[in-house]
Amino acid sequence: MNNFSYTKIKELSDASVLLKDHKGNKAIAGGTNIVDLMKYFVVEANTLVDLNGISGMDALTETETGSVLLGALMTNAATAYHPVIEEKYPLLSRTILAGASGQIRNMATNGGNLLQKTRCYYFYDPHVPCNKREPGSGCPAVKGYNRIHAILGHSQDCIAVFPSDMCVALAALNATVHVKSAEGKRQIDFEDFHRLPGNSPEIDNNLKEGEIITAIELPNEDFSQNYSYLKLRDRSSYAFALVSVATAFKIENNRITEARIALGGVAHKPWRSHEAEEYLKGKSPDREHFAQAAEIILADAKGFKHNRFKIKLARKAIIRNCMMALEPDSQRPGAKPSL
Ligand code: SF4
Repeated sequence: MNNFSYTKIKELSDASVLLKDHKGNKAIAGGTNIVDLMKYFVVEANTLVDLNGISGMDALTETETGSVLLGALMTNAATAYHPVIEEKYPLLSRTILAGASGQIRNMATNGGNLLQKTRCYYFYDPHVPCNKREPGSGCPAVKGYNRIHAILGHSQDCIAVFPSDMCVALAALNATVHVKSAEGKRQIDFEDFHRLPGNSPEIDNNLKEGEIITAIELPNEDFSQNYSYLKLRDRSSYAFALVSVATAFKIENNRITEARIALGGVAHKPWRSHEAEEYLKGKSPDREHFAQAAEIILADAKGFKHNRFKIKLARKAIIRNCMMALEPDSQRPGAKPSL
């Protein structure tokens, strides 16, 4: 870890200027990823700009339209266990609790969850090339050990995946990201927040320099009846997803009126297929239709030497999770779905 200075900021505009005008400065909130990155010499900060002194960003508020604003500085744990989230957005609660550990969720913030870095092993090793860490240096993962890497949306320059669980639900729930800088504020549709690697994998998202996430808005939509999150990983706790699936349905008279399916662990961003969701509209909720939706989602999937298994795994996970969404009781801890 390099020597650095630290400052705790009270005004968002001051933080924005410090982060925009001084490229070596880095923001910190919960610190659950940035501190690791600094310890591994992946990130070197001149000054750590602590956002925790900014007021009004650490709570949940309900708007007049019935949507919910999650403060960017609110912790993942406080969000997952908030009564409004448990009641209105149980899919989000479920995904958050599938991630990391209790200790980390107590520290990690909602804004930080969106900004965490890939866990590609090469990215964390400054002794090897990596286009994301050092643009133009190459991507050893393409021909190297790529078990945890992408099967969708990758490029020849980067095949990393985005590791968040929470963001898979935020994608499925059509969230909106509120951002602010010294120049003003704007909102970004969640699907447009993270980006695919293309030929500039060093850019993870569409935040502009100096912009700070202030809140994440959840629309006033009811997906609290039929939902499920399935996370498949190498061990049952404290591991990142090889493949995960968030599914939510609205169902009337045994017909799907609205479907949401988002995948994690398979691409550089949470992966949604509107084509598959459209396909399911008006269909009966059964295995045959879910299998066809899985085919649509994975039609362009391409694996590498060590991760081709993920395509088959994702297909099974999509079908299984869609079936689990029909059984709300299967979401209880320890419950076994009858599949
Ligand atoms: Fe770096 Fe992306 Fe390649 Fe991993 S997959 S080594 S993050 S360029």
